[in-house]
Amino acid sequence: MTAIEKNPLLSTGRLPAFSEIRPEHTEPALDYLLSEARTTVEVLSESKGEHHWDSLAKPLEDLDERLSRAWSPISHLHAVADTTQLREAYNTCLPKLSEHIVELTQNERLFEGYTSIANGAQFGTLSQAQQKSVQNAVRDFKLAGVELDAARKRRFKSVAARLSELSSKFTENVLDATQGWKKHITNPEELSGLPSSTRELARDIAKREGLDGWVFTLEAPCYVPVITYADDAALRYEMYEASTTRSSDQGPDAGHWDNSDVIDEILTLRHEKATLLGFNNFAEFSLATKMARNTDEVLTFLNNLVRRAKPVAESDLDELKQYVAEFHAVEHLDAWDIPYYSEKLREHCYQITQEELRPYFPIDRVLDGLFVVANHLFGLTIKRVPGADVWNPQVDLYSIHDADGELRGEFYLDLYARPHKRGGAWMGECVARKRDGDEVQTPVAFVVCNFTPPVGGKPAQLTHDEVSTLFHEFGHALHHILTLVDYSSVAGINGVAWDAVELPSQLMENWCWEPQTIALISSHQETGETLPAALFERALKARNFQAGMKMIRQLEFALFDFRLHLEELPRHDGRVQEILARVRRDVAVVHPPSFNRFAHSFSHIFGGGYAAGYYSYLWSEVLSCDAFSLFEETGVFERKTGLNFLRSVLEQGGTRDAMDLFIEFRGREPSIEALLRYSGINREANRERDA
Ligand code: ZN
Repeated sequence: MTAIEKNPLLSTGRLPAFSEIRPEHTEPALDYLLSEARTTVEVLSESKGEHHWDSLAKPLEDLDERLSRAWSPISHLHAVADTTQLREAYNTCLPKLSEHIVELTQNERLFEGYTSIANGAQFGTLSQAQQKSVQNAVRDFKLAGVELDAARKRRFKSVAARLSELSSKFTENVLDATQGWKKHITNPEELSGLPSSTRELARDIAKREGLDGWVFTLEAPCYVPVITYADDAALRYEMYEASTTRSSDQGPDAGHWDNSDVIDEILTLRHEKATLLGFNNFAEFSLATKMARNTDEVLTFLNNLVRRAKPVAESDLDELKQYVAEFHAVEHLDAWDIPYYSEKLREHCYQITQEELRPYFPIDRVLDGLFVVANHLFGLTIKRVPGADVWNPQVDLYSIHDADGELRGEFYLDLYARPHKRGGAWMGECVARKRDGDEVQTPVAFVVCNFTPPVGGKPAQLTHDEVSTLFHEFGHALHHILTLVDYSSVAGINGVAWDAVELPSQLMENWCWEPQTIALISSHQETGETLPAALFERALKARNFQAGMKMIRQLEFALFDFRLHLEELPRHDGRVQEILARVRRDVAVVHPPSFNRFAHSFSHIFGGGYAAGYYSYLWSEVLSCDAFSLFEETGVFERKTGLNFLRSVLEQGGTRDAMDLFIEFRGREPSIEALLRYSGINREANRERDA
């Protein structure tokens, strides 16, 4: 075999061979696939006359699919097992890949080909999935500048390539800044208030670094407990400052890994990209592929929620202020005090802490329970696949079979925080579903979380928040895996409008609040006892604690992101902070200190795909809450409703508009009331329900 044939990234095996993939395989595999793609595209561009699905769309789908099968393990490893060599290889490849995509989507002959399919006599005979795939392609060609003149096209191309570099740079800066700061503590008195799991984690980190005592990092499993529980205000301040100034011109690492210029250039180029295509701003460009119809609709939606949530947030804050004045003799609350005293107030009102619940949620029990829920609702059987080839010993592979015993797909589960792994939780596509004749390629997903790793040799235990995150990402995985669409461009989450894509994930979160589920997912680490009803009652009551403040924070992020991409400010150093200040003036109830640079690590919008789309979380929460209200009406574990959701939404992928799918499931258009009720903003409705 030649070197290229031995390249594991080109393997046609069902699953990637992670143990064989090396950074040096990256570039040759990509070069090989790109040259193959170039040849195919040349042949397709030269063929004359009217095109149909098999002559154009199919070969291009296959091409795209081959490329993403090779690229997805690379970009995944870049996210979860980043080494200097892999990062270098990734960054060498990225511009080549972006260039290929831009060249492909700016190819006029291919565009004409797709247009001829869309307008051709055969179009009506294509399946719904094929039609949607063609329509999306025509739209995407236009959004990629295919109709621009040669000079503008060149400019568009270099803007797109630069934007992809910048977003990668942004993410790297955040990762480096997060890992570049550590707090070493040797005096145990400074740990006062911290839960034992956090202390053990910090001790493990210290050991790893060859140090005595405890080491705290800015990663969530360290940072969140410190800001929530540490009695030492100086420690909280120190970590708050370090965290909220990451990758910026402020704080302990001011100027290191600074994203200021990166952000500025990203905003300028996004605006240019949008205006080249004839949009007034990047927000309009973003909405061209979303469920929301125009920028006014988004602003009205968000401002309407602000109007409903702000008075609730204000009363939340007043309650907190009164409490600290009365019980802690504190007159002034700083930003780094709010999570700490909020947790104290929560304990005071509900006698419950996140940490208290941890021993009841050992990971194996939670997973087993989650799989039983999936069985009740959708008839699925989920099992661990022994001996799978994975990238880290902490990772497992699971298979999903349906009620007929048919393999629907698989997913990798990578649960714990560790060095060189990007923070947060997400679901990613490893293999997409497609059909070739009788042969079906079943989908494979990556489910990634950053939970507190097992410490002191005990199995990992989750907080209820972490349980909820797991249900959420699992919901995304179901959407990706359970699709029955045969064309990968509109299978699973592909082709689903961004602001509707959180529907299945947010929907699944609801089940971890059901008493029946709690009985399935909880089992005390030592006693084996399920979560006692009284404790669960208190957790349930605490669920909507500070609901107003929580929603206002989401609205602040969403409006900041949207207005940042909508309002044009003259380019100057402080423009990002200026828009942030305006949004906060209109929305916020808590005003952070002037050194706070949260935008500099806001990876969703600068490093990920949420630009002018962060509102999607709230938008699809409207959908998910309203969808869950149907389960409530019919019985939350009612298989018939589960199967209705499976068939109307999960199996459909991106073949039809999100609104149509929602109406098919719910029987009507979405209403905002369920969100207001579940999130505790409409307190009247909750009182009625509790009564
Ligand atoms: Zn999500």
